[in-house]
Amino acid sequence: MSTDQRQSDSYRGICQHLIGIAALLLLGISHADEAAVDPSDDSVDVPLGSTLYADSRSTEILANVERLGDSVPGSLYLLDTEIPPGTTQRLSWTATELFDGIPASTPVLVVNGVRTGPTLCLIAAIHGDELNGIEMIRRVLYNIEPTKLSGALIGVPIVNVQGFLRGSRYLPDRRDLNRYFPGNPTGSAAARIAHSLFTEVITHCDVLVDLHTGSFDRTNLPQIRADLNNPDVLKMTHGFGAMVVLHSEPIPGTLRYAATLANIPAVTIEAGGPSQLELAEVKHGVKGIESLLTSLGMIKRKRLWGNPEPVYYRSSWVRADTSGILLSDVSLGSTVKKGDVLGSITDPMSNASTEILSPYSGRIIGMARNQVVMPGFAAFHVGIETSELAASEQSADTPEKPSVSSYAGGMSE
Ligand SMILES: [Zn+2]
Repeated sequence: MSTDQRQSDSYRGICQHLIGIAALLLLGISHADEAAVDPSDDSVDVPLGSTLYADSRSTEILANVERLGDSVPGSLYLLDTEIPPGTTQRLSWTATELFDGIPASTPVLVVNGVRTGPTLCLIAAIHGDELNGIEMIRRVLYNIEPTKLSGALIGVPIVNVQGFLRGSRYLPDRRDLNRYFPGNPTGSAAARIAHSLFTEVITHCDVLVDLHTGSFDRTNLPQIRADLNNPDVLKMTHGFGAMVVLHSEPIPGTLRYAATLANIPAVTIEAGGPSQLELAEVKHGVKGIESLLTSLGMIKRKRLWGNPEPVYYRSSWVRADTSGILLSDVSLGSTVKKGDVLGSITDPMSNASTEILSPYSGRIIGMARNQVVMPGFAAFHVGIETSELAASEQSADTPEKPSVSSYAGGMSE
């Protein structure tokens, strides 16, 4: 970090401290212990009742607040509702109706902090059978006190209500909602729902995390999917702490693609598999999101979470070549060498068994749960560790990189 940057950071810290104090005064919040801690301040805790506020610094504070008047947090307006600073609200978003004409509405949770900061949106269950993200949003949103938040948090735990009610990835017309963003108000049902979410909620976000799991009985090691060619997105990935990052250019129509195009840096978290609530994966995702909140300066945590995990610029799925019962020999997160046995496929009639060998050295970042498979089924997702330099050389020399990256996204997100 350069001296200039340090000075600028420290200046920003002081400004945010002043803004925080001003906001608290304006709100008339009198709980000294809550008001005392500013998430951007690393040294001074000053109780509001302290005589410090009666001394000469008062004038200085007020002068600064006046100068930074625009930065004092205001109310957030979302879905025709005012959410004043320092409050939490549960709103309702309705994009469409069920077949019987009843509005299909879904909750939108909002925490508006007492200090200025970015608005982070957490979106889950665009695929109705992906449950882990729903629980991650509940844990993050209900763990945040607005008095300790800079900026705002918006959580939409269940976007695809109709899919969720039927335990299905898709909308009732079998369309994949995550191929229709930013949507169209006069298009298909999927396009209309996408348009409604995008205009009513997503346009209010500064940063977005879309939560997913593996699809079709496959499970993913908790990981960030991000377009590392986008500098804002790349910077965002640095905030997640010990989570694996996989470079993946978003497919047109995904929320991640449309948000990034609208200048809202967005990543996807993939964690676990569909139709189950997996506590370890949920906890991993929550830790990652809370690390991001810390790195965005929205909350204060004593410790950041661990050392960064490797970044994978390349990955590839290993497919079944025969049909039968797939049983794996490796577990999620295992490190494998080229030629290692990943699993076997056994024909239940003839008892003939075929081993699946890893064509790469790397790490298992996604895999199928044990099940009956057909030839061509994507069974093991191997993250191939390379340096950034090697990856860029590779992309220049071979056509392998583009197909690999779009493939990773298409498999689940
Ligand atoms: Zn998904």
